[in-house]
Amino acid sequence: MENPKILYFVIPCYNEEEVLNITAEILKKKIENLLEKNKISKKSRILFVNDGSKDKTWSIIEELCNKNSVFQGIKLSRNEGHQNAVLAGLMTAKEYCDMAISLDADLQDDINVVDQFVEEHYNGNDIVYGVRSKRETDTFFKRFSAESFYKLLKVFGVEIVYNHADYRLMSKRALEGLAQFKEVNLFLRGIVPLIGYPSSVVTYERHERFAGESKYPLKKMLALAFDGITSFSIKPIRMISLIGVISFLVSIGILIYSLIANYLGNTITGWTSLACSIWALGGIQLLATGIIGEYIGKIYNETKERPKYFIEAFIKQ
Ligand code: UDP
Ligand code: MG
Repeated sequence: MENPKILYFVIPCYNEEEVLNITAEILKKKIENLLEKNKISKKSRILFVNDGSKDKTWSIIEELCNKNSVFQGIKLSRNEGHQNAVLAGLMTAKEYCDMAISLDADLQDDINVVDQFVEEHYNGNDIVYGVRSKRETDTFFKRFSAESFYKLLKVFGVEIVYNHADYRLMSKRALEGLAQFKEVNLFLRGIVPLIGYPSSVVTYERHERFAGESKYPLKKMLALAFDGITSFSIKPIRMISLIGVISFLVSIGILIYSLIANYLGNTITGWTSLACSIWALGGIQLLATGIIGEYIGKIYNETKERPKYFIEAFIKQ
């Protein structure tokens, strides 16, 4: 290859002292291997993002950087969470790289498919999604919760790639697109497909974490799912309107029913008016909330100031 491109690995690290040295060694080997095959430029780097770790993670990163210039490190001032750490890394890498691959510090995502990622990029893809083929190594609970998470997002109309986490390659152009999303509630898996440049999928098997424990407890996972839905969908608001319409229709049914019951004379005085007003008022209130919600939904979409388009090609004479 004439001009191999610069590859950056971006690795978010939160309390990863147990795995960092091993991960660094494996990634370094990968870079060397790709260099030998002349697939990437000598300027390729491994960029660690320390996400406010409380253990020795940062001093390990400093040590690695001092030893070998293939390593780079950035340190966030406090723990900002996985998504923000990945973004910080990608936005830093964007200035220096032609393509960046984000992956977790525990190397649960098979790094042998990196070659395919790079190949797919040379084939003209701006985004390459790593998709898990199986989840055998995950516990039943993790698998169940993760798969329900993807299905739930689908129901709410959020466009995501099934079984794809944050293991992906992005070209410089795609990273520049990503930089234009200004939203604070970050859900990368939802944003990246919106960039829309040519993309492809590479499947791999997910391993077990080789040391240390998951930094994604149920609480953080639920928060991510909630963020995913509320940052991408106004369907929940629509549901309120729908329930409003349904209760209002029910109220009409009840009105007819209670008038008949009243006419037949087998009701207590006052029941008819009470039964009707409870349903009618409830329905109208929900509907009103839903309508206000529609406007809030509009405001919410406006405040995101999302980029409206990305130009993929421009032909002129
Ligand atoms: N991580 C992070 N900040 C956090 C939590 C996690 O940067 O607040 C990183 C962590 O170091 C790892 C990646 O995000 O590199 C994924 O975390 P983990 O492997 O614990 O999640 P799981 O694989 O269990 O879903
Ligand atoms: Mg993990």
